[in-house]
Amino acid sequence: MNILVTGCAGFIAYHLIFTLLEQNHTIYGFDNFISGQKENIERLNILYPNNFVFKEFDLIDFEKLNKFIYDIKIDQIYHLACPASPPIYQIDPLHTLDTCYIGTRNILEIARIKNSKILLASTSEIYGDPTVHPQPENYWGNVNSFGLRSCYDEGKRVSETLSFIYLKKGIDVKIVRIFNTYGPKMSLNDGRVLTNFITQALRGENLTIYGDGSQTRSLCFCTDLIKGLLKLMDSNINMPINLGSQFEIRIIEIAEIVKSIINPDIKLTFKPLPSDDPKQRRPDITNAKKYLDWEPQVGIQEGISLMIKEFKERVKL
Ligand code: UDP
Repeated sequence: MNILVTGCAGFIAYHLIFTLLEQNHTIYGFDNFISGQKENIERLNILYPNNFVFKEFDLIDFEKLNKFIYDIKIDQIYHLACPASPPIYQIDPLHTLDTCYIGTRNILEIARIKNSKILLASTSEIYGDPTVHPQPENYWGNVNSFGLRSCYDEGKRVSETLSFIYLKKGIDVKIVRIFNTYGPKMSLNDGRVLTNFITQALRGENLTIYGDGSQTRSLCFCTDLIKGLLKLMDSNINMPINLGSQFEIRIIEIAEIVKSIINPDIKLTFKPLPSDDPKQRRPDITNAKKYLDWEPQVGIQEGISLMIKEFKERVKL
């Protein structure tokens, strides 16, 4: 198949494209490198020079997007473009919002013109700071529309609304709500909890805990997530589906795991909790189990060890 991937230099895209190329598909990808990594593109180009076609441009630019694939049949689209890390998506909040609205509208138009199946990467952030726990897909969320995170949270909510509108127009749209995902090839400076902890520990620096570290997340290893994305794309499901780990862990416990693997003597530094930082997060994945026969397999200890191994090759000490 010919498969278009938006945001193809990102961490999740890297693992997805690698899997799709192994299955002999041809990948058309583009990225604006706001949060994507040039090294990922270089590596994919070297490994698969004939089946991976890359261009640098912004999803907001419909003309460039249309020109890129003008005379090509596109069977499937994975729409992954948008910075997902809080400190990165807050650098240019207007652009984050434009990417979610104008960008998603552009790519849905392409899906309509090309009659392609499309999978939209939505997020657990659409649940905000949840008052229902764990979060099922029919929970409508608790999002602050007037805060630092809202460019992304509300942006992704409007992306889902656009997807709903195009679904009603007859486009085969899938929506995945991705919960915290981690693993090798994450951008070293994305500011996320595991990239910070591992980079800090390898450099012998203190680990930075925001707040008292009692807030929770559920971390899914990247290869597990990719299996879920492929299953959802192949399914006949058009309602939003949560994909994530059910193993919920406190941030302070994540720090302890990283310490125990790299250096138990590393110290912790406590910093203020960012505003609107959700206190707890865990997906209800009943639907993913039922409709996709999917659940994560990689345990947290194993996943973090694999991530540390790959980070050791990249972190400059
Ligand atoms: N966090 C932390 N130290 C860091 C980076 C993040 O304690 O160096 C906390 C952050 O405040 C949040 C959790 O870890 O409560 C997960 O943060 P991340 O940015 O990875 O993801 P998100 O908040 O989007 O779930």
